Amino acid sequence: MNIKYKLISLFFRQKTKAECHEVLLTNNTYYQNLSEKNKYTFQIRTLLFLWTTNFSSDSGFSINQKMKIIISSAFVQITFGLKTDTLEKFNDIFVTPRAYSYKNNPAIFDGDVNPNTKKINMSWPAIAQGFEIADDGLNLSIHEFGHCLIFENASRSYLSRIFNENDFDHWKKHAANKFQKIKSKDNKVLRDYAGTNLIELFSVSLETFFEQPEYFENNEPKLYFSMTKLLKQDPRNKLNPTGK
Ligand SMILES: [Zn+2]
Repeated sequence: MNIKYKLISLFFRQKTKAECHEVLLTNNTYYQNLSEKNKYTFQIRTLLFLWTTNFSSDSGFSINQKMKIIISSAFVQITFGLKTDTLEKFNDIFVTPRAYSYKNNPAIFDGDVNPNTKKINMSWPAIAQGFEIADDGLNLSIHEFGHCLIFENASRSYLSRIFNENDFDHWKKHAANKFQKIKSKDNKVLRDYAGTNLIELFSVSLETFFEQPEYFENNEPKLYFSMTKLLKQDPRNKLNPTGK
């Protein structure tokens, strides 16, 4: 494990780490499949993310440590190959007990990220289902954190960007290609919602990348490998996705 996480791990009590391990082991398939060494790094990154994030909920609905660990694990999963291990701007997660809607808007949401208020809203049943069914290409937390990464990457200064500029351009090129395929109804692999815009295409790609990597690679290899490069990991290698 790198020295940074060794040091950070000293700040967390043994009991906290053991609880984190237990929750991840019973709820996160990606974690279950990791080598012991990777599991430990994953645990520390999960606790670090959790510790730097404010979780809140409606009165009458309480969000416990287990829920926080499960939500945080989605962020750790996406960024496991990257240096970025926390968010600087999107530090508030609001969890609702059910799907919700906004005033003057008939649409019902399971999750959304507001780039103005920097708030992430998600409904707990949809979060939980995202992890319970780990191979259907649907994971709300991964989806919403995907939006945060795009927004934050754009707002950070050149040197502290989350994504390597060339890798991101490379991804955009293949994403634009895929976008055209969806528009001309020649779409496999990603659900059609990805055709909304490139931001949605990124999040839907992430969900499929982690939940159906073999299927993704078989059918859209160029887009798939542009993502392994961008995220510096290949989820088909379950023991050691980052190859480190
Ligand atoms: Zn979205």
